[in-house]
Amino acid sequence: MTGYRVPFFAPDLFEADRAVLLRLVREIGIAPEQRFILGEHTARLERLLRAELGCADVIACGSGTSALTLILHAMDIGPGDEVVVPAFGCAPLAETVVNLGATPVFADIRPHTMVVDPDEAGRLVTHRTKAIVPAHMFSVMADMPRLREVARAHGVRLIEDSAVAQGGVLAGRPAGTWGDAGLFSFVQVKTFGMPGEGGVVVTGDPGLGRTVRMLRNHGQDGTNRFLHHRIGYNSRFDEIQAAFQLHRFPGLAARLDRRAEIAAYYTGRFTPLAERGVVPPPPGREGRCYYVYCLLAERRDELAAHLGEQGIQTHVYYRRPLPHQPPFAPFAPPGARWPHAEHACDRILALPIHPNLTDEQVTGVADAVCEFAMPRAAAAR
Ligand SMILES: *Cc1c(COP(=O)(O)O)cnc(C)c1O
Repeated sequence: MTGYRVPFFAPDLFEADRAVLLRLVREIGIAPEQRFILGEHTARLERLLRAELGCADVIACGSGTSALTLILHAMDIGPGDEVVVPAFGCAPLAETVVNLGATPVFADIRPHTMVVDPDEAGRLVTHRTKAIVPAHMFSVMADMPRLREVARAHGVRLIEDSAVAQGGVLAGRPAGTWGDAGLFSFVQVKTFGMPGEGGVVVTGDPGLGRTVRMLRNHGQDGTNRFLHHRIGYNSRFDEIQAAFQLHRFPGLAARLDRRAEIAAYYTGRFTPLAERGVVPPPPGREGRCYYVYCLLAERRDELAAHLGEQGIQTHVYYRRPLPHQPPFAPFAPPGARWPHAEHACDRILALPIHPNLTDEQVTGVADAVCEFAMPRAAAAR
């Protein structure tokens, strides 16, 4: 128990599927083949997502972070290379690049949507740049059409960090399929989360897919055991989790709809608050991914405290731009600033939006935010 009336993450995330999960543990646990990784369930999950996305290959692996590493490695990105990443985002964006010996170059974001500014990313490309890695940020997909143009114009690869955006669609094209490769994370809080660690690489390039497949299992080709073609990783996928994901997939669309419905309600209530210092994300479903619902609030910490007093749990993702984090600061050019990323770090506040929220909880959250921004109007209601 979190002790919150409205917890940020669902405390009963897999409640409805618990019996199935226990049955799968038992079935796979006692099956004669004793196959626990990279078996038939994993292959079926990969085929399902491939058909769903209409792409050349989907490769299940150990996590979203690992998926990004496998993609960068399969593209031969390493020492001497630069990779343009958003200045505002999660650590794996820069960490994976650094771990391969390459250099992250931080691009500022757009102030309202908080996704990387494609033109800024283009300006940072040098003769060393190998790839641009935009990330969909919480509620809004990055401007992938423009990023494709920028990547093509500069002759660099485009890697779509769609870890949070499974099920999002922009201009009729699903998240994950816009770049040379994309990825999803299945860590429990993500939109297609599961009770454990996992993720997938998505690619339209069959050759890249084959390389990623080898890299995830120590450079083996899947046919000749103990014949190693490449220096790879252990980034394999669990059979029980794959079977559970196959069971959960048909419900994903309804869970995404519920998230979008909550987002639409919040945005409807919060749009009038913009002149009072509380700005909701842009409305609609086109190019949206309601993994997390983020406001930009001038008095962010006061708003968080006000909501906390009413039993509503919130989160701040993130308080610092990536280049201001100690491990990445050495990669930041001296004196460089990312004003829009800094602005977002000072104002961003994430509200609960998980699909298990009741209508009453959702209304309660919206009421509490409105009451903070417009105390008198709320009292007169
Ligand atoms: C969650 C996340 C990742 C990492 O996924 P894990 O499965 O936790 O390793 C990478 N990028 C973004 C944008 C994420 O939100």
